[in-house]
Amino acid sequence: MCRSPLATHINVYTLMKNSMVRFIKYTIFSFMVLTIVIGLASFINENEAVKEIRRFNADLFREIGYTDDELSLFCDVAFMHEDTRIRKWDRDIKVEIKNIADLSDKSIAEVDSVIAILAPLLAPIKIERVRSGGNLHVYRKVSEVVSHKIKSHPRPVCLNGMAKINGKSDRSWSINYACIYDGAHSNSQTLLHEFEHALGLDHPIKLYSYYVTIGRSVIPQYFRSKEDVRSFLRQPFYISEQEKKVIKMLYSPEIKAGLHIETFARRMEFTDEDRIRLIPEASKNSRIVIYPSPEEYHRYEIK
Ligand SMILES: [Zn+2]
Repeated sequence: MCRSPLATHINVYTLMKNSMVRFIKYTIFSFMVLTIVIGLASFINENEAVKEIRRFNADLFREIGYTDDELSLFCDVAFMHEDTRIRKWDRDIKVEIKNIADLSDKSIAEVDSVIAILAPLLAPIKIERVRSGGNLHVYRKVSEVVSHKIKSHPRPVCLNGMAKINGKSDRSWSINYACIYDGAHSNSQTLLHEFEHALGLDHPIKLYSYYVTIGRSVIPQYFRSKEDVRSFLRQPFYISEQEKKVIKMLYSPEIKAGLHIETFARRMEFTDEDRIRLIPEASKNSRIVIYPSPEEYHRYEIK
């Protein structure tokens, strides 16, 4: 039997059409499967990241041993990102003085002194000074430190110093790069203050009965006694024992970058009274409080 050329042509056409439909079906199906798999993988990955951040063992954390005062300061200054999450270094810190050629030996030695003070508080993270390839860049004694952060002010505000850290990425609140500036006339306390920012600490909202280096003002907030004043003046790099403990608490392996203050409060089983006492309330949209407080500072709003 022989077929007409037209019938053959129709058969070939039908075959092509069928295989095309199959091809499109398979492509759509494969695409759907791939989308689901990618979605699932990303969901699992995100869940793992969230779980990792939430992995917090309150009992092990308590083993550090801290006073109520120290816990209070920790809650105030350690949850830096949007006042709710932990930011901290996830790698060893290599301090590189970028303008080292312009500095006196004393200015360089001051950086080394700050590193020596902080090193025992950051373990297991190491901090050291390097000549190149640093991830914490220091610019000392710069002629002008200008911040554009306070938007309500008509002009940029000149400060004693400034610190910047890398922004958070998708699921990571870790710090892997920071930059510190201090002005030509600022003192060693400013340098230490900026280093604390670079480590992930923020200004406190509350007032304390002792001098807090990470406080907003370089003017000592409170001194309980003349002995306090003398001990402050004796140490060019004064840092209170409470603040040292707070840095230790922040760098304890139990505290993960990204840990939310709510998760922390829940795991620590804070009561309602604990929350009021320990978590700085209404930190957002509140006014900067500086003690002693020059009147003009009250004009600025934070965030
Ligand atoms: Zn500051």
